[in-house]
Amino acid sequence: MRKIFEWYATGAYSIREVGLMARNIGLVHPRSQAKVPNSSIHRILRNRVYTGEFEWLGVVYKGRREALISKDLWLMAQDVMDGRVDARIPRTGGSAYAFAFSGLVSCGHCGCALTAEIKKGRYIYYHCTQYKGKCPEKYVREEVMAEQFAAILSRLKSAPGIHDLIVRALKSSFATEREEHELAVTRLTGEIDRLGKRIEAVYTDKLDGKISAEYYKRASSQWQDEMRRCHDELRRYQEASEAYMNEGVDLLILARDAEEIFQKHEGASRKRLLNLVLANCTWKDAQLSANFRKPFDLILENTTSQHDPKSGDGYDDAGKENWLGN
Ligand SMILES: [Zn+2]
Repeated sequence: MRKIFEWYATGAYSIREVGLMARNIGLVHPRSQAKVPNSSIHRILRNRVYTGEFEWLGVVYKGRREALISKDLWLMAQDVMDGRVDARIPRTGGSAYAFAFSGLVSCGHCGCALTAEIKKGRYIYYHCTQYKGKCPEKYVREEVMAEQFAAILSRLKSAPGIHDLIVRALKSSFATEREEHELAVTRLTGEIDRLGKRIEAVYTDKLDGKISAEYYKRASSQWQDEMRRCHDELRRYQEASEAYMNEGVDLLILARDAEEIFQKHEGASRKRLLNLVLANCTWKDAQLSANFRKPFDLILENTTSQHDPKSGDGYDDAGKENWLGN
């Protein structure tokens, strides 16, 4: 499993190629022992479960998922899949360094993009491209901007009630899942049972000479096909229940941990996270402002209903648009 991520994260192979390589080393589905198709490779690469990420919630997931791969590796694979890493650029030291905030932030004075530049060989500075003429915005160190991004993301973590929201979402996703699952399993096992009895009955009829061999062959093979379909469907339900974590819960957890994830990563991974969570990032007079994308805006809206209208520290606050306040 880890190999799949490692191969793919290099950016040198397509999903098809990774699938081929995986089948070559004999990767099979744990239950059906079937060779893993490319569509599964895609699903595997997208599945955060392999990072063991959700075991943070302790009790609920205890013992159910171990980290098979590191989160960094997972994020790198996501970057490749999202086309954020150019495979033609050779990597150094295992992770491509991309400027985290270039192309993400625009200048609050003239609307131009902020671009990155390395000074004295190691300091990254961002500055207005000044395409529209001279701009008063000063150069800013990446660290300074990063601090402000972290502060913005920390609003999600400190949103009162975020923990409750996660727990509630988890509980309801479990309940719905279990209910659906049980209904489907009951229906399918009933169907399989019924088909089995029919096949048995028609076989007896054949033995008794009540029906022709030809009729028996046609009927029983049809029912056997149906039975196989039911078995396949059952298996699909079982596989689906492995991925019971729904997207909403993922997002809530991401919201809670966004700042931490941000702090732990750099470059392309930071950009990936920020692109997911924030929009319209603007830099003006050394102050960052940004909107939260959906559904993160709703998390804040729901949990900070008594929003403090003062915005003395320079962030814009445009009410319903969910611009960041203080
Ligand atoms: Zn500017």
